Amino acid sequence: MSTVSHELKTPVTSIKAYGQLLKRSLKKAGDTANGTFLEKMELQVLRLEKLIRDLLEITRIESGKLSLHPEPLPFKEFLEQIISDLQLITNMHQLILTENSVLTITADPTRLTQVITNLVTNAVKYSPEGKKVEIAAKEENGFMICSVKDFGVGIAANEQSLIFERFHQVAGKNPNAGLSLGLGLYIAKEIVEEGSGKLWLESEPNKGSIFYFSVPLT
Ligand code: ADP
Repeated sequence: MSTVSHELKTPVTSIKAYGQLLKRSLKKAGDTANGTFLEKMELQVLRLEKLIRDLLEITRIESGKLSLHPEPLPFKEFLEQIISDLQLITNMHQLILTENSVLTITADPTRLTQVITNLVTNAVKYSPEGKKVEIAAKEENGFMICSVKDFGVGIAANEQSLIFERFHQVAGKNPNAGLSLGLGLYIAKEIVEEGSGKLWLESEPNKGSIFYFSVPLT
């Protein structure tokens, strides 16, 4: 699987590069109609890249090579930055930081970003009718607890433990069927647990979900 994922990366990178060249020449020629098609193509290429990255991540996890590089982080600013970056690519929902009281933690910044990004993008994706997503971070019993709350489709009790399994997707609930693989939560859980934390949720169908993860403070 590792070889296949690596092999997939090369042509996709090349398609992306040609796409960028084409975009430049279409812009020069003032061809906005074809420019729109190209933008759609670029979006699909980005999705493809994400799928390949996820597959590579799985091979890393399964060969025990998911290594974290923890460092002290000014978490308050760190979380603010991630949320404002994510807001830039979120059109329909407002991302609201309801509490942000943890000043510093020791964690791998890239991996932490990956976990938060996954939870927030899921919250947006699975609340098509929702207008907001609430994010909070606080200290509790020696842990930093970060939560991501949506007001969307929710998850039935019998599905709640299954969604952390590889490739598991709740039937009929995925607006992006075919474009995602059901790997995000599995990867996020592995990362959190590698850092001695936990990832869990509370959810009610048609009301919404709250995903939580913890990072030890010492
Ligand atoms: P993906 O979103 O790519 O399918 P994930 O591993 O991130 O994969 O999620 C697995 C499944 O869990 C999703 O397909 C979806 O059915 C469910 N899920 C995840 N997050 C939420 C959420 N915030 N609300 C409702 N369902 C969710």
